[in-house]
Amino acid sequence: MKNFCKKFCVLYFLGLVLFLAGCGDEPDKEFILYPDSGLAFGLFPNDYAKNDSSAANLAHGITLIVHPNATYQLSFDVDPNFEAPKLQLFRIFMSDNGEDLHAQPVRTLDPVVKNGRYIYSFVCEERENALWATSLIQNNTYYEGRVSNIRFTGEGAYSDHFSINLILVGNIEDELEEFTAKELATNLLAEYRKLYTSVTIDTLYINQAAEHPTLGKTYPANEPWIAGRSSDDIMVSELGGWPGLENALDITLVHFIDQEGILGYSNLFSANLGKGLGSTVVLGTHIKTPAGEEALDMQGIIETALHETGHFFGLRHTTATRADIETIFDDYDFGDYSNLEDGLEDTPSCNSLVATSLTKVQRTDFRINRLMPRIRIFANSSFKIEDCPDAGNYMFPLTVENKTLSFSKQQLAIIRQNLMIFPH
Ligand SMILES: [Zn+2]
Repeated sequence: MKNFCKKFCVLYFLGLVLFLAGCGDEPDKEFILYPDSGLAFGLFPNDYAKNDSSAANLAHGITLIVHPNATYQLSFDVDPNFEAPKLQLFRIFMSDNGEDLHAQPVRTLDPVVKNGRYIYSFVCEERENALWATSLIQNNTYYEGRVSNIRFTGEGAYSDHFSINLILVGNIEDELEEFTAKELATNLLAEYRKLYTSVTIDTLYINQAAEHPTLGKTYPANEPWIAGRSSDDIMVSELGGWPGLENALDITLVHFIDQEGILGYSNLFSANLGKGLGSTVVLGTHIKTPAGEEALDMQGIIETALHETGHFFGLRHTTATRADIETIFDDYDFGDYSNLEDGLEDTPSCNSLVATSLTKVQRTDFRINRLMPRIRIFANSSFKIEDCPDAGNYMFPLTVENKTLSFSKQQLAIIRQNLMIFPH
């Protein structure tokens, strides 16, 4: 086991430093080469974006998000100039005092070579969702061969069914004008069932945050809840893992999100159908505008719910926005600019959107998993959103008027595959 660094690194792994001295915990065991990269990059399973920065850092250490009982394959192209490296895997975890990060060796793997690629297969035997890290070893040092076309895939052990728990936070019922919360829930469930065709949604429950058995008093039913203002946690994630519905997808419906133009948020590959951090998707019935606020129509709320749920299950935007990629730390941008689109063959992307600075939004929070918004642009611009070839895809990052949205076959396959990885 090795001491990594102080608490800051849990919030963001950039700048993570390994102490190379004093690592003699297991002197008689095999040679262990701890990651020394700072773990700025990482992969989640079944992501088809290029992830060139993760490939470049695999030997010195990237993170992998893993779930109990799932089977994973990490693969990349053979470099004929080097012998096959061993892959070492480490569990990254907090010390008991909550201040230090540790890396503990999990196992060392040899690859199988198939079609010119190294394939490393392993099962995650953790009891909970975990963060693992890598190193590639050759001749007792870091592998120096080229790592290209990296791919991390996973197969889960759980069902392809789930339920949704719609949590009304604050005075939602009073603030809705054109429809009731019940009507919204009915239409929401119908739309999920119509579009999420690769999985089965068993039930949609409605709950009032004010009636939560232990947290209810924090969420009075007679005033609007502003996510990011009424409490620090913009995702209201303490409401996730609702008592009695511990394994449902929790959607927190608030008055609005305290950031101009943001209709909803989910973490990318949130991957938590239980409780705690990453267990919620947040939506507003209203949107914060330059002039104040504006009510959304029912279709606007439903479309945002389906979009954010796509992120929850690991879908990227069809075209990345600058905010998706940019990762500033100490005035240096660590973003992986190879990930300009989702990498899927059956979703187009929009080059003109990549080129524009329209989609740069201010983030207020850094998390291990990146927050993925759905955005409405207020400013007039010569750039025509509706001309983007992916504007009709549910995972297009911006709202588009009068478009019927859909998911592609590959997107639906990823939703099912990742759902089955999440314990529920
Ligand atoms: Zn989004």
